[in-house]
Amino acid sequence: MELKDKFGRKISYLRLAVTDRCNLRCKYCMPAQGIAIVPRKELLTYKEMYRIVRVLSELGVNKVRLTGGEPFVRKDFIHLLESLSFNNKLDQINITTNGALITNYISKLESLNINTINLSLDSLQKNKFAEITRRDVFEEVYKTLIALEKSNLTVKVNMVVQSGVNTNEIIDFIELSKTKNIAVRFIEEMPFNGKGQRRIKEVWNYNKILHHIQNYYPKVVSVKTEKTATSHMYKIPDYKGTFGIIPAFTRTICNDCNRIRITATGMFKNCLFDGGVFNVRDFIRNGASDNDLKNLFIETVQGKPKNGFIAELNRTSKVSESMSTIGG
Ligand code: SAM
Repeated sequence: MELKDKFGRKISYLRLAVTDRCNLRCKYCMPAQGIAIVPRKELLTYKEMYRIVRVLSELGVNKVRLTGGEPFVRKDFIHLLESLSFNNKLDQINITTNGALITNYISKLESLNINTINLSLDSLQKNKFAEITRRDVFEEVYKTLIALEKSNLTVKVNMVVQSGVNTNEIIDFIELSKTKNIAVRFIEEMPFNGKGQRRIKEVWNYNKILHHIQNYYPKVVSVKTEKTATSHMYKIPDYKGTFGIIPAFTRTICNDCNRIRITATGMFKNCLFDGGVFNVRDFIRNGASDNDLKNLFIETVQGKPKNGFIAELNRTSKVSESMSTIGG
């Protein structure tokens, strides 16, 4: 038994949001007052998460990315990582974090064989960082970046490209990859911000970001990536690290999608842009067996839309929820 959709795409990657809470208030993700967080009992428990991952891993999911909200905000997140690390069907456990709370956990993450840390960092300037995130924690996050780079963990730095805000730092971010063995990834801004309107003044899509970079570095070379990768990767010759661009909004990567998502409240999503397909938490709490779960997962991925545009068209509500609710 495996998870394959009707377009023949094999599903092997789960993004699981462990909480909807976050310690930052990034402007492109949520309003200043934050989002209406759900009561704690509506969040999946760690036991439920462990079970979902185990069942999915028996269906061929071999990579999990834990995200949120901010995963390290949830109490005892390390315990979840510890239990997941016993699942030998998983080849990779990855985490997306803002890095403000993790400096003390880095050696623990190494000992648990966590593979990749995606660190969100949208500005290298302390004041601008505070303006974007509405929190003054640049120093902690930068310290995390330095510590991560020295660790055994693979480090990816994610920068959401925000027109009129941080586009003048794109080159500074690439310069980080000159001496650091990291992958810097530029993400197109999406309307998942708790409001719905795109905040875009001038569109900085994949092509514009790439042209901007190529103008500055005429010798950019592309780097081969897995077919299912979300980013197209490049390198400046002789730089230690790489950089990439994630066409999150222009959605040119859907053909090879191998991902599903489960939100912190257990909502199963076949696509970032769909409105949620069914609630796994309720199904489990109503007594579903492992086989019931497997059958449901197999059936549900059959409905995976061909791409993010079709997913968006099929929604009953417009795209407006915060990425903190979805799990970025
Ligand atoms: N708190 C963690 C963090 O900051 O990395 C994990 C959750 S966060 C929602 C996951 C990723 O989604 C971050 O890299 C963030 O920058 C990205 N993100 C959030 N809102 C976005 C938006 N409107 N457009 C593009 N990326 C967004």
